[in-house]
Amino acid sequence: MFKRALTIVFLCLLFCGCAKKEKTPNTLSVINQRGEIIVGVKTDAPPFGFLDQNGKNVGFDVDLAKLIAKRLFGDENKVKFVPVTPSNRIMKLTSNEVDMVIATMSITPQRQIILDFSNPYHVAGQALMVNRGSKISSLMELKDKKIIIVFGSTVEGSLRSNVPNITIIGYKTYPEAFEALKAGKADAMIADDTILFGLTMNDSSVRILPKRYSREPYAIAFRKGEESEKLIETVNMELTEAINRGEIQRLKEKWKINQPLSIIK
Ligand code: GLU
Repeated sequence: MFKRALTIVFLCLLFCGCAKKEKTPNTLSVINQRGEIIVGVKTDAPPFGFLDQNGKNVGFDVDLAKLIAKRLFGDENKVKFVPVTPSNRIMKLTSNEVDMVIATMSITPQRQIILDFSNPYHVAGQALMVNRGSKISSLMELKDKKIIIVFGSTVEGSLRSNVPNITIIGYKTYPEAFEALKAGKADAMIADDTILFGLTMNDSSVRILPKRYSREPYAIAFRKGEESEKLIETVNMELTEAINRGEIQRLKEKWKINQPLSIIK
């Protein structure tokens, strides 16, 4: 009996030992050794992440990345930008291509299962955009009609369950979706208000309707788990201090980012 118990204890120890995973290196130490952060940002979503005339990454999310680089290395240029889209940004993170994603990304319960997030830095809301002559005034009027979305965005999941018989046409990027709306491929487009405002600047052929259909807290995304803990702590500290010194507000003014209107369903 005693011998059998001993064998079981021995086998347990053996299996626990074998099952013990290689410890994943803490991302903050990897960054410190490398001497720069690698950040996934958008290149086609003004005013958050886009390219200027010289092909340089600019925008509010890009400036946030620079604040983090400055905190870590005392130099805002110690950052390498990697372009991401709504549908590939999670893969770029989980495959270790980037250390973090700063790309108009909302915290959602589904995403929190596979990712960790910083504190939120902005709150957007989904809105409808229609061509100027359109009579549509709310989401419910899109029953039996066509709507444009961008794949990988939060709206993809919620729409079908909320509006009966809606036909969803998906695009990979916001500029493609915008062009499709203007070309009359659908009756409306739905996306975050901040992104729609960025797309429509100086374009009077479309209208953004006043209703908001969701609350989208934007935050910086990280790989899930212990490896990101120290990095998230540092990033959150920077965000809090940047809010307190008025820097986040200044950046919102610089990029003309407004708070959304209240949510009206
Ligand atoms: N904030 C929404 C999201 O995280 C839409 C913007 C985007 O597609 O990046 O999905």
